[in-house]
Amino acid sequence: MVPIPRQCPNCVGHATARVERLGALEVLLQHVRGIGPDCYDLFRCPGCELIYLSPLPPQEVLDALYIHSSQFDCPEYQGDQAVHVLRNHRLWLDAVRARPPLCHMSNRWVRAFLRRLPIRRKVRSVLEVGSGLSWMCRAAKSVNPETITVAQDISSEASASCPWVDHFVIGSLDFRYEEIRSLAPFQLISMSHVIEHLLDPVHVLRMCSNLLHSKGVLFISAPSRPEGWTVSSSIEIWRNWELNQNPAHLQYFNKRSMERCARQSGLWLLNYEANQDAFIAWLGHVPRFRLW
Ligand SMILES: [Zn+2]
Repeated sequence: MVPIPRQCPNCVGHATARVERLGALEVLLQHVRGIGPDCYDLFRCPGCELIYLSPLPPQEVLDALYIHSSQFDCPEYQGDQAVHVLRNHRLWLDAVRARPPLCHMSNRWVRAFLRRLPIRRKVRSVLEVGSGLSWMCRAAKSVNPETITVAQDISSEASASCPWVDHFVIGSLDFRYEEIRSLAPFQLISMSHVIEHLLDPVHVLRMCSNLLHSKGVLFISAPSRPEGWTVSSSIEIWRNWELNQNPAHLQYFNKRSMERCARQSGLWLLNYEANQDAFIAWLGHVPRFRLW
């Protein structure tokens, strides 16, 4: 029997053609095996080209993924390997694609990033959404010690080990929105490898839009598609993709779906750069850089 897909989370309120089923993905993450479904289906929205998982994982799976497990005590985030990467990586798209995403780790990377932003003066306020170890806050603080850094994460795992964060807010953006809003507006909001985990990405981007300075930038990085994938590819390419973290990744954007998500949330897609199977995007309140 063909499963009924959930609606494309990017196209609520839009009439779209029938979504295309790409195939079934088995649950890969050991600590959620046996809690929810054994398999999830992957669908593609022909309207915005978002590729997304259906059904959504039940709450106990989400809790097991983000609340009752540790994410940052592995060698990739701690110890010699992280130090080596901090000192050596240079290319920011490589940094976006690396495992774990390294774009928040290097002060050099953040300096290069900040120079490219359409903000003439120094960044003075940063919000890191789904911050984990809050490396963007750390780098921004290092570049300019006057920067006010705010980090939000649903897990408290990393909150005690981020002295570079001025305000570490634990809980969902929805739940802690008023508290975070009292610290807004932010010139830079960062979501690194977060949007693919969100149950309702448009809703979260709308909140970010309300928190973003009129001349600020929302930075997003995320996995996109397996390298070489086309609409006629077999589901095997997804099963073998190293960024397949079923069921943690709920959707995969490309330029078109990122554009739709930005407009749905009252923002403009200012910049989109893809590298192999990941991308970075900058969103803002006005459609062109030159308006700054
Ligand atoms: Zn869509």
